[in-house]
Amino acid sequence: MTQAISYEPGATLDDGIPLCVPEIRGNEWAYVRDCLDTRWVSSVGSYVKQFEEVVARAAGKKYGVAMVNGTAALHMALVCGGVEPGEAVLVSDMTFIAPANAIRYVGAQPIFIDAEPVYWQIDPNALARFCEHECRFSEGVLRESATGRRVRALLPVSVLGHPVDLEPIRTVAERYGLALIEDATESLGTGYKGRPAGAGADISCFSFNGNKLVTTGGGGMLCTDDPIAAERARYLTTQAKDDPIEYVHGEVGYNYRLTNVQAAIGVAQLELLDEYIAAKRAHAKRYDALLAEVPGIATPREAPYAFCTYWLYTVLIDEAAFGMSSRTLLEQLSARNIQTRPLWQPMHRSAAHRDATAYGGAVADQLNRDALSLPSSVGLTTEQLETVGAAIRAIRG
Ligand SMILES: *Cc1c(COP(=O)(O)O)cnc(C)c1O
Repeated sequence: MTQAISYEPGATLDDGIPLCVPEIRGNEWAYVRDCLDTRWVSSVGSYVKQFEEVVARAAGKKYGVAMVNGTAALHMALVCGGVEPGEAVLVSDMTFIAPANAIRYVGAQPIFIDAEPVYWQIDPNALARFCEHECRFSEGVLRESATGRRVRALLPVSVLGHPVDLEPIRTVAERYGLALIEDATESLGTGYKGRPAGAGADISCFSFNGNKLVTTGGGGMLCTDDPIAAERARYLTTQAKDDPIEYVHGEVGYNYRLTNVQAAIGVAQLELLDEYIAAKRAHAKRYDALLAEVPGIATPREAPYAFCTYWLYTVLIDEAAFGMSSRTLLEQLSARNIQTRPLWQPMHRSAAHRDATAYGGAVADQLNRDALSLPSSVGLTTEQLETVGAAIRAIRG
């Protein structure tokens, strides 16, 4: 286990420079107080509706269905996308584990597709190659050759506030009749070819966990243009209730709805989304300048098709050129009260998904070895950014 400084509840920015803490400086208190004063604290209330509308708009979709967290939104997206038990879903190898777990919740199996090395997103060429060479397509059904499993959906994950290259992925989805679900949980406000990330997928999912760009404490959203999928998600997340008064339920549903109190925080957060994005982009520029001359550090790149929000500003450490590994740098920064974090264990190495097919994985392995996310809170000061930059230079020596 690598050592990492931990932040106890109640810690403040003065206790060091944390990886990513929420920014609370808008109307959060006023809207939460309104919920408490009016007693609209549960999952019915005007803030839930407002929050769904503003997030759907930001995501470039017609409908938003608020949920308890992003993982629940992914679960419901797979159900609404028609994924059945025993089927397979192609998903990013380099991702936080939630989308892979959600695939398992519906009884399906993930197939992990490696990242491309430049922007670290799922490799659309590898995805297309897998479907072409490792699957059979007949009578409108795509099956993985090795297992005979039907491939039902694609679940690319836009990681770190950079969008996946969705167009070629969409082409694959259309060619084989697959549902296209985007895990855009890290990428609210991110742009792809002039549209919001997630806008080009059938269903896109967002998270409002505490470390995301905007937060509700915990929360998620399923966004879609399809009124039937939106309606079904709304139904399933409210215990599949058929009658507003009688306790009659048409099928097994879930208690996945977001509360009005959380949505109130979200509405306040969304009012400042553009400011947050501007702040994150300015921080990224500042980091780029501070680290430009440091040998052995590669700063993140923004694709020509992308507008990045730099959810977590992440660099690659070339051990030979930098003089130490990313993990040693993590420990040395930690000793200076600066919190950093590697990227996730690639899914093809996860014990939780040990039986899944993996297609490639060398890039994901390299990213896991070399990547380090630097402090990325919206509220970082210039002084803090400079402290991080100076610490990295000093540690390298
Ligand atoms: C944060 C995140 C999620 C969902 O997170 P919740 O904590 O369930 O809201 C899903 N996928 C990715 C890639 C994430 O980073």
